Amino acid sequence: MKVLKFGGTSVGSIESLKNVKSIVESINGPAVVIVSALGGLTDRLIATAKTAAANDLTYLEEVEAMTERHLNIIDNVIDECNRRDVKDTVLSLLSNLKRMYDGVYLIRHLPQMTLDIIVSYGERMSSVIVAAMIKGGSRHDSLKFVKTEKWYDKNIADQKLTTHLIKEEFSKPFDKAIVPGFISTDCKTGDITNLGRGGSDFTAALVAAALDAEILEIWTDVDGFLSADPRIVSDAILVPHMTFIESMELCSFGAKVIYPPTIYPVFHKNIPIRILNTFNPSAKGTLITDSSCEGDLNVKGISAIRDTTLFHLGGNISGKLKNTVSRTFNALAKKGVKVFNVTRNDEKSGMSFAVAKADADVTYDLLCREFAPELSKGSLSLPERIDNVATIAVVGENMKYNSRLGARIRHTLSRDGINVEGHSEGASDTTMAYVVDSSKVDDALRHIHTLVF
Ligand code: ADP
Ligand code: ASP
Ligand code: MG
Repeated sequence: MKVLKFGGTSVGSIESLKNVKSIVESINGPAVVIVSALGGLTDRLIATAKTAAANDLTYLEEVEAMTERHLNIIDNVIDECNRRDVKDTVLSLLSNLKRMYDGVYLIRHLPQMTLDIIVSYGERMSSVIVAAMIKGGSRHDSLKFVKTEKWYDKNIADQKLTTHLIKEEFSKPFDKAIVPGFISTDCKTGDITNLGRGGSDFTAALVAAALDAEILEIWTDVDGFLSADPRIVSDAILVPHMTFIESMELCSFGAKVIYPPTIYPVFHKNIPIRILNTFNPSAKGTLITDSSCEGDLNVKGISAIRDTTLFHLGGNISGKLKNTVSRTFNALAKKGVKVFNVTRNDEKSGMSFAVAKADADVTYDLLCREFAPELSKGSLSLPERIDNVATIAVVGENMKYNSRLGARIRHTLSRDGINVEGHSEGASDTTMAYVVDSSKVDDALRHIHTLVF
């Protein structure tokens, strides 16, 4: 059995929904179809909530526009005999949504829990439309079977419970099961939560893994995984095949094609992923499997995390470098901060590493706490922090042994006037990383792409 996931642009217009219908209806036998909210809707649901919280009545116009958009789509993709029912269901959801906004407007406050309920309406509505549009379609509500638990202040998937509930939900025969992506409920309180922006991919992976699907198909608006973000590198090429690890590295370094946590559940079950284009369904796309194939490209892609912060710990640590590194990494890992070691170009003594900017404040505090004794004795200086840098990742199997390429990349960047603040080569099997000033990241991506592809 196949699991298919259609992203926002794939379900965002009449034309694209017609493509979704023909893709799903051409499958023989059962399939599970995960859908996102209509393209751009999640952003608007959030923006409208902020408008209402700012006591601005224009939130009402936004609700009106959302209503019109959904009704227009229903009029154009749903058979006349079902149209009334679908409209009633969607209108009742929209009326509840409006009441949420009214409440936010009145109390001029937007708690996270309320925002989580508000954003859930996107997928709740799109899934009603897609289920009614597809022959043999039935809607299965992920609020019942995708469960999250609290982890510090985040909601993360409770994979064990979710797997159990998915198996139960799909134990009876079905033809085309339509599931809203992204949304979930807390395993203890039942409150509505979600899996994070882009999380429909993750819903699809959880379903695919629980049901031992033969393949997970991610249908989107590009022909597959490209060698770089096509919005920045216009001559990016299609990558026909890559491994789970390579895709995981590219996505955790900013390639938006797949939401990073998606890959773990299917990787674990060795279920291949194919990235396909809803607007060009006959294209072969990109296949992602556990090991490399003959004819694979050496480098699979280049991606960038735009908001990175570089840290440097200096002082009298040269004799204790190993210990400093492991204390730093342990302290940060306990709080879920992803770190990577960096070699500074100015070869300053001490240790340098980079984290996502969102984690920078926490990182600074953790370092000060972990090294409080050394800081007070003066054997270590206060952590140095450089904001507004970006990290570029060059990903492919065996990068660890490709030091020649690393040297060429650094040479190309410096020749083109781009200062590399730090780099990481040889530390990871699959990824080489370069830290550059944020304002230079697009240029750097293009230069590296021209060199490599
Ligand atoms: P969906 O709504 O289908 O989930 P997303 O917008 O989340 O789609 O992801 C697809 C987009 O990711 C593409 O339209 C493309 O602009 C962007 N993208 C970024 N990097 C890459 C890459 N390396 N290959 C393909 N697409 C990429
Ligand atoms: N609709 C959600 C978002 O825009 C989830 C998704 O599309 O995957 O983030
Ligand atoms: Mg996406």
